[in-house]
Amino acid sequence: MWIDTHCHLDAHEFGNESVAQAAQAQGQGVGMIVIPAVEVANFSIVAQLAASIGNGCYALGIHPIYVPHASEDDLRVLRAQVEAAMEDPRFVALGEIGLDFFIPMLTEPAMREKQVFFFREQLKIAREFELPVLMHVRRSQDVILKHVRQIPPAGGIAHAFNGSAQQAQTYIDLGFKLGFGGAMTFTRALQIRRLAAELPLASIVLETDAPDISPAWVHPGRNSPDQIPRIGAVLAELRGLPLEEVAAATSANARHALPRMVVA
Ligand SMILES: [Zn+2]
Repeated sequence: MWIDTHCHLDAHEFGNESVAQAAQAQGQGVGMIVIPAVEVANFSIVAQLAASIGNGCYALGIHPIYVPHASEDDLRVLRAQVEAAMEDPRFVALGEIGLDFFIPMLTEPAMREKQVFFFREQLKIAREFELPVLMHVRRSQDVILKHVRQIPPAGGIAHAFNGSAQQAQTYIDLGFKLGFGGAMTFTRALQIRRLAAELPLASIVLETDAPDISPAWVHPGRNSPDQIPRIGAVLAELRGLPLEEVAAATSANARHALPRMVVA
């Protein structure tokens, strides 16, 4: 059994195929798909989608790319919806939250500050409800690490990990897992492939980030959660391990990172 720890199954790129995509992934052995929210407007959508597929769970949070249009009132809505969702067994984490210092619009000083404010406020909500976090970390590894040290959540996942070995070790020491996916399937991605091969297997979870970060054999096409077993096969090959061992270990790691997740 496989787990896709990060899939935007509600994204408009899937049109009306989201449920069919989940079923197709399930047919390929993907027993659970974690659907993160990105803004207040999609909170109920991810919750309903997770409930309507047999293999779904979800997170609630405000993604850094949606921070420019977000207000402090959105943080109050988030906190209230998290409080209500604690009753929902399909609700597993705060996310997607983080810092994006790559997109030019988001790197102006005032916007950096706003991103940091939203990140910290969401870390506080994660702490209050003892929830893990799903983190978007783009050109912001050390800043993220600084803030999670100050306001440590109950672990979680640094999604689409693309940092150094030292940064990876720091996340691991702080109790986080690292998400690996399509980027690892490109032979030129030397650093990511080396980390995927050498980091402790217990620190690695798999993800698609679908519809984004397509694996090499799909690129530049739309990514989908049924790609997880083939992405897992790349990890197995890089580490010289049997496929079943990688499936079992990465699924166990995902359950460790997201303990509320109930896998049938
Ligand atoms: Zn994402």
